[in-house]
Amino acid sequence: MAVPPHGAIDCDIHPALPNTAALLPYLDPYWREHVLLRGLDRDNLETGNYPPGSPLTCRPDWRPQRGLPGSDPGLLRAQALDAFGARFAICNVLHGAPILFSEDLSAALCRAINDWVAAEWLDRDPRLRASIVVPLHGPELAAAEIERRAADPRFVQVLLWAMAEIPLGRRTNWPIYRACARHGLPVGIHAGSSFRNPPTSLGWGSYHLEDYVAQAQGFAGTLNSLVTEGVFVEFPDLTVVLLESGVTWLPGWMWRADKTWRAMRAEVPWNTVAPSEQVRAHVRLTAQPFDAPPTRAQLERILAEIGGDHMLLHATDYPHWQFDGADALPDCLPEALIRKIAVDNPMATYPRLARA
Ligand code: ZN
Repeated sequence: MAVPPHGAIDCDIHPALPNTAALLPYLDPYWREHVLLRGLDRDNLETGNYPPGSPLTCRPDWRPQRGLPGSDPGLLRAQALDAFGARFAICNVLHGAPILFSEDLSAALCRAINDWVAAEWLDRDPRLRASIVVPLHGPELAAAEIERRAADPRFVQVLLWAMAEIPLGRRTNWPIYRACARHGLPVGIHAGSSFRNPPTSLGWGSYHLEDYVAQAQGFAGTLNSLVTEGVFVEFPDLTVVLLESGVTWLPGWMWRADKTWRAMRAEVPWNTVAPSEQVRAHVRLTAQPFDAPPTRAQLERILAEIGGDHMLLHATDYPHWQFDGADALPDCLPEALIRKIAVDNPMATYPRLARA
């Protein structure tokens, strides 16, 4: 069994907002009154990406007797931090606030969530860090929230979702990347859809199972957009972390992107560097879930194809569960690689962790 070394950095855990009413103390008077008038405090505003009762949303032995998976700080401390000897763990709150149709309400609730995370989680355990939650479809408002929260060094990343209203590389979204670059914050792109578009390019499926399997397509499309639009050319210091994306779809994507770019690069003259090279320089992936092959030789081949052992970051994805047993890392990882994934790579990816 492969276990993370003591002092590992867990790059993806999910504290859950117990209910929208928990945000009331963190809303300004206008928005508090607005939420109460509309009765939004009685609605959990969950996204549908992770239905609370689904086996995908919580490992069976982590499921609380009461409340949403991930909503109990004591359980999170014991099951995610103590159990895996974490030095730091990055909280990625997945909630409906970033994807509401009203950009103003979305921004107000995102502000409240960030302040709630700071007060209710970060202030209570020095091992916790967090991603800044932003209105996904309001880039200027998102940038303003990044500016507001960036002064707190415990916020180490900005959180976006793989499938939004428009592809994430589009210029409209660049205020977000400009703010991230200004503050040295990586962009974390988590599995999930705002459901403005079907999760597959074929239309709407019938089952949550289909949505989740389609996440890899969503990540591939997002990467295609970021590279082709020239995000990494415009923001040469930007790092993107793909959270919960899986890994083995990436070599095929790199091959296809490079091959097509060589033939059609006149269309994107700013891209003088091959897509695969841009990915190796700017993109990292969390290793939970890791669709790892069974043998060490096959694993080393995949790592060589995606660009090396600097690409992967350790994550438990607490409390989510991808049906791959109770181990935080696949069996076939050599010890030196485990240390790199669990400590060295996260430190290199998140400058604010290194400074702590
Ligand atoms: Zn996750």
